[in-house]
Amino acid sequence: MQSIELFKNKIASPAKIVITTHHKPDADALGSSLGLKNYLIKKGHEVSVITPSDYPSFLHWMKGNDEVINFEAPDQKEKAIQVIKEAEIIFCLDFSCLSRLQSMEEYVKDSEAYIVNIDHHQDPKDFSQFRYWSTEAAATCELVYELIVKIGDKELLDSDIADCLYAGIMTDTGGFRHPNTTKNVHMITAELIALGADNTKISKLIYDTNSVNRLKFIGFAISRRLTINQDLRIAYFAISKKDLKKYASQTGDTEGLVNYALSIDGIKIAALFTEREDGIKISFRSVEDVAVNKFAQENFNGGGHKNASGGKSDLTLTETTEKFEKLIKENINTLYNQLDLIHEK
Ligand code: 5GP
Ligand code: MN
Repeated sequence: MQSIELFKNKIASPAKIVITTHHKPDADALGSSLGLKNYLIKKGHEVSVITPSDYPSFLHWMKGNDEVINFEAPDQKEKAIQVIKEAEIIFCLDFSCLSRLQSMEEYVKDSEAYIVNIDHHQDPKDFSQFRYWSTEAAATCELVYELIVKIGDKELLDSDIADCLYAGIMTDTGGFRHPNTTKNVHMITAELIALGADNTKISKLIYDTNSVNRLKFIGFAISRRLTINQDLRIAYFAISKKDLKKYASQTGDTEGLVNYALSIDGIKIAALFTEREDGIKISFRSVEDVAVNKFAQENFNGGGHKNASGGKSDLTLTETTEKFEKLIKENINTLYNQLDLIHEK
């Protein structure tokens, strides 16, 4: 793996750059991508952000959003392939294995560009020439900020870049609440606010902007689609394609839903199973030392962080939730601390 000095040289002179991130980008994925883009433009590069799919409309305010190329949009795919082919440098942000690019993966794999990976997920795969990676970081946005400062370019940061980076740190720490909310997070956040990040505006845009349909959907999901099993310490939502259609669900409408299940007293693992066109998408959340990333990796072809992971299933929605319950039953002793369970009973 190369040093920061070599990386710094690599981006010292203008180049054709592509920045990409994982399928269905969240605020950290898109914020780190657009924050980095706006910085690299200031350094004189030609930069395109290509996302493997669309993303929630509550992220559309970020500077550079209008030029983002969506690989899954039929009218943009050809352009995306062309831009990837011409790229001299490709940045892969907020993911640790290329499969998270889904149908875009093969084009990045085939590229001869210099690949850079900036990420905070476990077990990074070896697909880059330069990797700036730490699982200690709460967000990829935190790492992008650090890298720019380490390179000596702090003076290139401005309020638009600060807004993008702030958004990712805010959401990946669950609004500065999760255990990853370190002193470093607060120090960097303070710097971003000093640079002009509008923290009130960003939290309003991301957390407090709902369509009526979305609010009704959340009400429906909590009252009709939530299963609670106190013996197993689990609570989960199972949302069908039909449910999504009924509430005219948009990308991002299920964001945060799983946290309602996790907030129930006594629950240690929460899940959200969503039936999509290409199978069941799963979100896992857990509390304390319960590691859902290992569980997701071993059983649902996924991964992520200890307390927040995701995965997939090719079974039906019902078969998937049955498999989940069965696995929790079988692994209850290894998943939870047995003494805790006895003590709390
Ligand atoms: P979410 O539930 O919000 O989609 O994802 C939670 C965390 O797990 C995020 O850090 C996300 O990047 C990761 N994650 C989600 N889906 C997958 C997946 O299919 N594979 C892996 N390795 N990580 C995932
Ligand atoms: Mn992230």
